[in-house]
Amino acid sequence: MSYDVVVIGAGPGGYVAAIRAAQLGLKTAVVEKWDTLGGTCLNVGCIPSKALLVSSEKFDEARHHLGHHGVKVGEVSLDLAALMSHKTKVVKDLTGGIEFLFKKNKITWLKGLGRITAPGALEVVGKDGSVQTVAAKNIIIATGSDVTPLPGVTIDEQRIVSSTGALKLPEVPKKLVVVGAGVIGLELGSVWKRLGAEVTVVEFLDRILPGMDLELAKSAQKLLAKQGLTFRLSTKVTAAVPNATGVALTLEPSKGGTAETIDADYVLVAIGRRPYTEGLGLETVGIETDGRGRIKTDKHFQTKVPGIYAIGDVIEGPMLAHKAEDEGVVVAEIIAGQSGHINYDAIPGIVYTSPEIATVGKSEEQLKEAGIAYKAGKFPFSANGRARAMAAADGFVKVLADAKTDRVLGVHILGPDAGHLIAEIGLAMEFGASAEDIARTCHAHPTLSEAVKEAALAVDGRAVHV
Ligand code: FAD
Ligand code: NAD
Repeated sequence: MSYDVVVIGAGPGGYVAAIRAAQLGLKTAVVEKWDTLGGTCLNVGCIPSKALLVSSEKFDEARHHLGHHGVKVGEVSLDLAALMSHKTKVVKDLTGGIEFLFKKNKITWLKGLGRITAPGALEVVGKDGSVQTVAAKNIIIATGSDVTPLPGVTIDEQRIVSSTGALKLPEVPKKLVVVGAGVIGLELGSVWKRLGAEVTVVEFLDRILPGMDLELAKSAQKLLAKQGLTFRLSTKVTAAVPNATGVALTLEPSKGGTAETIDADYVLVAIGRRPYTEGLGLETVGIETDGRGRIKTDKHFQTKVPGIYAIGDVIEGPMLAHKAEDEGVVVAEIIAGQSGHINYDAIPGIVYTSPEIATVGKSEEQLKEAGIAYKAGKFPFSANGRARAMAAADGFVKVLADAKTDRVLGVHILGPDAGHLIAEIGLAMEFGASAEDIARTCHAHPTLSEAVKEAALAVDGRAVHV
């Protein structure tokens, strides 16, 4: 078997690269070891977690918030099995959708574990042990990432779970301890809190969501705490021992000190993800990785070995599905002789809590550290008519613009539908917009997006509605 392009891994990086390569007329195959396509994102990541977030939000709304709108409901109860089967159906439909797209684009799915044996050559080992030899003019590694383990804690996916286990707990925990106040911890912690669990989030650092704008993270923490999440910051978990009823966890201050033991019936370990390159044969061809195990590439995603490329979670940059997808498009275009480009300064990041937390560009801390003079404009959702009508007026929009040129450098939003609102800013930043450009753009009334316009006006001290 011989192809122009063979992609290893069918996550958002790999499947998108394959579709784009096929669109460009290249004979393309994808090696995938799982039984379904779509990778982490569709099977055990973005999609199932968002299904649970939406369903649990509806449950929470019916229980606690419909009354604001004069909607009276009787006793609200949870059907966890139905909630889970909605998630399973969404995953099944979407992973099946990728299979359809492969057929439509005449992409071959080589089922099994891919291993690079030489430049331009791979082996695919099927579940039955059969071995296929494949020749490829170009190989794209898109093998993604896997859970980072926590020393002293064994993930059994029963009582001590990773995100994968936390997406399918058989019951609502009475007490759930989440280790890590990052994106997964806050999203899945919120899911189980809304469904009735008592949730404690243990975080090593003295803040949640490291890397995000600090003011945004602090405000988000306050709102999540108001919803009932308990935060134990500057704390580390040193041991987790399963027992008859659950798990006994040993905690210590991060800097060391007196240890204490707390009980939980489930523990979610969410302290990050690491690149996945096991069994790939990198050493056989001399592909280099950095200190964090990420495959090193040049600006065109090519590894040290000509004709072997890498994209997505397995290389540097934020571990996000849309980043992987964009790299997939660009690498296919580069292989086809076109030029591709990604602006890493304009990749949005969203935490799908309630309210959502969305950010693009630089944080205030990053601008200060880089010595860039900036002006900040802020606008609260409490002054936005639509947010008030929705009874969802917590949070704010913050626009950071260059003090001299007014160019937008970063925008940070905590509030209803922040994930959709940030898209406007991504586009604005791609076009090198100034805060004034956003402020002078007509935004429909009454919409949440008016808060973005007002924050842009506030950069120049002329917000209208505060
Ligand atoms: P992956 O999606 O990890 O896919 C890699 C694929 O390669 C897998 O299918 C794997 O089986 C296959 N593979 C690996 N090695 C081999 C081999 N040797 N041979 C054959 N196949 C192989 N990102 C967002 O942008 N938004 C979100 O809302 C979001 N939510 C998330 C929620 C959770 C719980 C998790 C865990 C992640 C979430 N992410 C989210 C991150 C997102 O899932 C990843 O950034 C994205 O999936 C990375 O895509 P990828 O193509 O690089 O790799
Ligand atoms: P993360 O990097 O977002 O957060 C990990 C958290 O764990 C950090 O706050 C870190 O300080 C903390 N931590 C690390 N070691 C610790 C320890 N020993 N004890 C206590 N806390 C510790 O990682 P994650 O939440 O596991 O998510 C992994 C990746 O998946 C992220 O890079 C993210 O980009 C991606 N993801 C994205 C989304 C989204 O876009 N909505 C959702 C889920 C996951």
